[in-house]
Amino acid sequence: MRGADAVVLGAGPAGLGAGLALARAGADVVVVEAEERVGGLCVTRRRDGFGCDLGGHIPFVRDEARRAWLESLLDGDLRWVDRPVSSVRDGRIVRGRYLDQRPSPPEPPGEADDTARGFLAARFGPDFTDTHLRPYLEKIDGVPLERVPAERVRRLLEDQAAPDGFWFPRSGIGQLMDAMAAAIAEAGGELRLGTRATALQLRGGRAAAVDLDGGGGAEAITTRQVVVGLPAALATSIAVPPPPPDALAAVRMRAVALVYLVVERQRLTPEPWIQVDDAAVPFSRAFEPVNWSGDLAPGGRTVIGMECYCNASGDDPVWGLDDDALVAACARALADPLGWLDDPALARPLEVVRLPRAYPVPDLAQMPAVIAPSRWLQEQEGVHLAPGAAVIEAIAAGERAAAEALSGARAAGDISSDADIL
Ligand SMILES: Cc1cc2nc3c(=O)[nH]c(=O)nc-3n(C[C@H](O)[C@H](O)[C@H](O)COP(=O)(O)OP(=O)(O)OC[C@H]3O[C@@H](n4cnc5c(N)ncnc54)[C@H](O)[C@@H]3O)c2cc1C
Repeated sequence: MRGADAVVLGAGPAGLGAGLALARAGADVVVVEAEERVGGLCVTRRRDGFGCDLGGHIPFVRDEARRAWLESLLDGDLRWVDRPVSSVRDGRIVRGRYLDQRPSPPEPPGEADDTARGFLAARFGPDFTDTHLRPYLEKIDGVPLERVPAERVRRLLEDQAAPDGFWFPRSGIGQLMDAMAAAIAEAGGELRLGTRATALQLRGGRAAAVDLDGGGGAEAITTRQVVVGLPAALATSIAVPPPPPDALAAVRMRAVALVYLVVERQRLTPEPWIQVDDAAVPFSRAFEPVNWSGDLAPGGRTVIGMECYCNASGDDPVWGLDDDALVAACARALADPLGWLDDPALARPLEVVRLPRAYPVPDLAQMPAVIAPSRWLQEQEGVHLAPGAAVIEAIAAGERAAAEALSGARAAGDISSDADIL
């Protein structure tokens, strides 16, 4: 049986961030990933000459140190996209997200409470919240603003914003994931693809081992430090012995169907990313990769990716459509009401991708069940969580979890390296 200073579960941005930090700090680290590729939700798929991310992925870089980290990892292969996210208002594309628009003249503030409605009304006024912010936010999350936690919109407003534009890997967000994987190997870390963690073994409330299935039979790695780079609920579902039932409660998830359409034109719009609040339009966000980087589309043609947020059930008006019907509905919307195409027949389908479990529905009523698995895992010694609702946030969470794992391994005398984590 192999032993390791630390095992990282999952090679999405969180797991890669943790694996890279641990490997660079001199730890003997194994990163295990169920898929045959790294990146999790952050992959760039190559189709018919186009590079399409699995949904528009803006890296929300908050400081110069992180920008320099990106630059060095990608060997300078970054480009500045100087257009912030746009939105559609009164049939026109305007600069800024719905959350960036402001009432004119300003409105007297409403009363704050712990809901998204209260949070927004206190900042921007109740009328503006209801007429301009509510339709888009409810279209995305599928619950009334009165049931969404205030923290959800605070994070969208403040943490997940790129008001002036953003740095982006020239070949798509997957390029960053591949660069992190290469850097882990270069620093001496081990990355096992096509390897599923089937059990997180705990002894007396401490991490002890991880069981793996890599296709070639079962294997276990003994370790006293485990970084969880996958949703906490997935990690609790493989814990042995299992946690109490409240850490395993079912949670309603929001789904997204991604529709990619090709148009024989240089560009459809000048915008990288546009939010659409109209309930009659099946998608809530549309991204045009050629406006993120010229390397993502062959000359003379463009692709538009549309993110349709919905519930993964047959009676959902979006998810319930078969792929052909969904493609037709998106193409029709591009022509009318959006007016970006003269004729829906000018758009041809490239691909439809369905993600049935994109994120937990942010409903106050189910937040205790959403949080319970993380709470329980945090109580297990040597288990470190790397939660991240956005790419850079997930990488940073992975690095923080790596720092905890490193100090745990040093305290236990398992590792002698004294290198710093970053
Ligand atoms: C449509 C869409 C648009 C988005 N847009 C943006 C954006 O503009 N900006 C932004 O910052 N973020 C965006 N995000 C969010 C971003 O993708 C996530 O925050 C990020 O991917 C989370 O990273 P993670 O590593 O925590 O999880 P994931 O990316 O989900 O990675 C988890 C990994 O764990 C692996 N795994 C699961 N189970 C096991 C197991 N048992 N054993 C081994 N491996 C396992 C999975 O295969 C996966 O590779 C978007 C997400 C979606 C869906």
